[in-house]
Amino acid sequence: MERDLTASWRERTAQQLVRYEAVFKLLDDVQQTEHVEEIAQRVARHWKYFANVTCWRLVLPAEEGFLVIDGARGEAHLASVATLDAWDAWHLSQQKPRLVRPAELVAPPLPPEHLAGKAITEIQVLPFVRLGQCTGLLSAAARHEPFNELDIKFIRLFGNHLTDRLTGIELRRHAMNALVDKATRDALTGLLNRGAVIEQLDTQLARTIACGEPLSIILADIDFFKIINDNHGHLAGDQVLREVSRRLRAQAFSGDSLGRYGGEEFLFVLSACSPENVERAAERFRRIVADTPVQIGPDPHQVLNVTISLGTASTSGHEHPRLEALIKRADDALYQSKGSGRNRVTVG
Ligand code: GH3
Ligand code: MG
Ligand code: MG
Repeated sequence: MERDLTASWRERTAQQLVRYEAVFKLLDDVQQTEHVEEIAQRVARHWKYFANVTCWRLVLPAEEGFLVIDGARGEAHLASVATLDAWDAWHLSQQKPRLVRPAELVAPPLPPEHLAGKAITEIQVLPFVRLGQCTGLLSAAARHEPFNELDIKFIRLFGNHLTDRLTGIELRRHAMNALVDKATRDALTGLLNRGAVIEQLDTQLARTIACGEPLSIILADIDFFKIINDNHGHLAGDQVLREVSRRLRAQAFSGDSLGRYGGEEFLFVLSACSPENVERAAERFRRIVADTPVQIGPDPHQVLNVTISLGTASTSGHEHPRLEALIKRADDALYQSKGSGRNRVTVG
């Protein structure tokens, strides 16, 4: 009898050790990558080995909306959503841990489909709160049997860690993007700044030369901008700069770069755009500015006719021009546009 008890105690301890090993391994695993999808897949594969969790949902508030990670049958599915379903929204608003038995549920909110099968005995709902803010909401479902005490401890421990890990990754990514944006964007117009657009030109020039592709650039300059400032004030001038930038950006193709080259000057880098095509592109940019007057105040009648002059330069892909030489050619062409009446394109 005594021997039997010792044997079963040994067996139980051995099983628990296996579970401890599994949880430590996964805790370690999720530290090995900064890739959210990869972490979610690892969790979906291994959570069942230490806490009987095969179906789960983790909701993480994101910059805009929420990231919802669903785990079922060893696989994770990630979705960015603007609004939550009733189950998540309600539990998030409550910010209280709950044990829900689906069979006993009489009123909504009902659990998401993958947590509502017949075999599901109970759902542990755990909000993870930091400084009064819910940073994650976990719903973990038990199949066939209810969770035991150790399952629940592991779910809380691991869910907490996972939430902090994923939130940390998101925060770092956000901070890094903000830093890069600050270093490369012009604050007034939101376009690339001079350094960043020249860097783009340098990179694209090297790439197109290497593969023998054409490349074109366009320099554009707002006409009589000083008069706009002098007659209507610098705030109106700034508004014109913002609106012209917005229109030009909307007209540019997604692979092309556009930056504020100087005060009221813009530089476009058009990858794979041949000398034959650049004139048409520049005409498009000219028209989008000239065709509609720019509103400079709250009154819709307070508008100004604004125009730009443009100069282009291209490489065919068979020559190796220096960056400065290419810009000088576009600048000379722009100067010609100014000299011959403004609001026009000169192909350099
Ligand atoms: P042109 O047709 O020959 O290009 O004449 P212009 O008046 O546009 O050119 P000019 O170089 O004489 O004047 C450019 C003006 O742009 C002068 C400068 O004060 C103004 N400017 C440069 N940056 C800004 C800015 O960020 N905001 C405002 N409001 N004005 C700016
Ligand atoms: Mg000007
Ligand atoms: Mg200028």
